[in-house]
Amino acid sequence: MKAIGVRRDGDHPVLLEKERPTPEKGEALVRTLRVGVDGTDHEVIGGAHGGYPDGEDHMVLGHEAVGVIEKPNGTGFDEGQVVVPTVRRKPNGETNEYFRRGEPDMAPEGEYFERGIVGEHGYMAEYFTSPADFLVPVPAELAEYGLFVEPVSITEKANEHAFSTREPFEWRPESACVLGNGSLGLLTLWMLQQKFDRTYCVGRRDRPDPTIEIIDELGSTYIDSRETAVDEIPEAHESVDYVYEATGFAPHSVQTVQALAPNGVGALLGIPEPWDFEIDGGSLHNEIVLHNKCLIGTVNSHITHFEDAVETLSAAPNWLLDDLITTVAEPTDVAPAFENDDDQIKAVVEFDSL
Ligand code: NDP
Ligand code: ZN
Repeated sequence: MKAIGVRRDGDHPVLLEKERPTPEKGEALVRTLRVGVDGTDHEVIGGAHGGYPDGEDHMVLGHEAVGVIEKPNGTGFDEGQVVVPTVRRKPNGETNEYFRRGEPDMAPEGEYFERGIVGEHGYMAEYFTSPADFLVPVPAELAEYGLFVEPVSITEKANEHAFSTREPFEWRPESACVLGNGSLGLLTLWMLQQKFDRTYCVGRRDRPDPTIEIIDELGSTYIDSRETAVDEIPEAHESVDYVYEATGFAPHSVQTVQALAPNGVGALLGIPEPWDFEIDGGSLHNEIVLHNKCLIGTVNSHITHFEDAVETLSAAPNWLLDDLITTVAEPTDVAPAFENDDDQIKAVVEFDSL
């Protein structure tokens, strides 16, 4: 079968010919429909994130997949059911407390593999196998957009963790700001629009730009960080109740605190490399304490977040999902899916359709 991977000594995706995998007991065989590409894939290809499966000279890419059950193999799934796989797997197949309690997304580094990212091949192949309890059923109508279930699940978890920190008191949030106009930021902006009266999205681009068009279309306010730094948002607009950082721009971690309204919460999602910058640690400390602010970090997601994501996506307008998908590439010519220019929002590799 065809697969797209990156070789240990390589710096770009290549087409590989691999054997179709055979499902083990408890696993189903899935025929891949589509696989999305995101910032993490670029980091993996560039060698900044993740790691190769032991003993392999390559890793199959892809962690945002949607497929169809080809062989249920006694798992209880029906042949033809559309499914989305979760990403984390037991390291070397050995379980640990995080997997036992159904919270692999809370495992520290070393206590998990991530398919297509660290330790285990991904889904960018004509077929893949997965334990049935790591597959989430998706309605057939969503098959085309199922690759968004994984990124939406990331935000389901972030929101759940962030909002739960505000549960002990009567929090009445009105405004939210997303930092970053990549695919994760824009999907999240739409999700937050359903919950907040006013939303903002921060980028660093000139108009005309396809991402700013989406921000406008959503009725959100675009903020150019080259003109208004994140810590100046309260002065230029308003202090916001929720900040969702999806830039990986390290100074945003600290500026988020200044952008927050009293009693607000910020969720950090970006995964920067080491990055020195100056901060006023006293004011930061003071601001968090005197205004009951909270900053959380969050990574990955698990089954319940995927299930929530399926429901959330079912309500997403098709125009948004269509506008987000800027490239649909064939496995035999994937280069366009890995181009990362300003016209690219979400690229997809399509192996098959329903
Ligand atoms: P992208 O690289 O597509 O998006 C990042 C966006 O942030 C880009 O549009 C970029 O703008 C913008 N940006 C970067 N720096 C600034 C700045 N200083 N001011 C304004 N905008 C800025 O990545 P994704 O959307 O896929 O992911 C977003 C981040 O979340 C990444 O860091 C990724 O690693 C991380 N991530 C984390 C996950 C988790 O579980 N915690 C899961 C998935 C992703 P431009 O394009 O113009 O440069
Ligand atoms: Zn991702």
